[in-house]
Amino acid sequence: TINISQLIKWLEKAALVMQENKDYLTKLDSDIGDADHGFNMERGFNKVREKLDELSNSKDIASLFKNTGMTLISSIGGASGPLYGTLFLQASMVLKDKTELNLIDLKNCLENGVNGVKLRGKASVGDKTMIDVLDPAIQSLSDSLNANLSINEALENLVKVAEKGMTSTTDLIAKKGRASYLGERSIGHQDAGATSSYLIFKSLKEAIN
Ligand code: ADP
Ligand code: MG
Ligand code: MG
Repeated sequence: TINISQLIKWLEKAALVMQENKDYLTKLDSDIGDADHGFNMERGFNKVREKLDELSNSKDIASLFKNTGMTLISSIGGASGPLYGTLFLQASMVLKDKTELNLIDLKNCLENGVNGVKLRGKASVGDKTMIDVLDPAIQSLSDSLNANLSINEALENLVKVAEKGMTSTTDLIAKKGRASYLGERSIGHQDAGATSSYLIFKSLKEAIN
């Protein structure tokens, strides 16, 4: 199972990774957006990290995720703030007072989170958004559960699937968000939000290993 200190490690790692990839994410967003995704993600996850100390004595994963979601919503100006905020808030809703997560719990909470993002952003797979990573990621967790894989194996697969989803966005026409204003001119560029979603899952795998 995954305990709260591993999840805190995840969020710390994600903050670091967003910092390291700030220029990269901004470059991707400058090609087909408004060049702020790196700034947005770094700022949002840095705020999350600043609050982790207060939460480290708590054993309650739902509170950790709820706090993360609220912080992302209030600190990221762009479209991605409410979307990533919703991911964590909705994930927190199905955890009751769990103090550790098995693979079923992880799948259930992330699935609820991703469903929240879909409801909020109305994007589907193929629209060249973070959903191109988030949706197959949940499918991969389901597959891993059915195959009785360990959490580490499941996360290994999840990151591979997320990477594939991320690179798949390059050839797509954007149907949602700012990049959709470009229509066909959005082809040939990898989506920034799909990339940050991949980085979030990669951080999870690295924090849990
Ligand atoms: P903004 O576009 O407001 O500047 P960001 O640059 O932080 O916000 O985030 C842009 C990313 O948000 C896009 O690359 C895309 O992955 C994601 N995104 C935008 N709109 C949607 C949506 N409706 N549903 C899902 N993801 C979306
Ligand atoms: Mg942007
Ligand atoms: Mg913006």
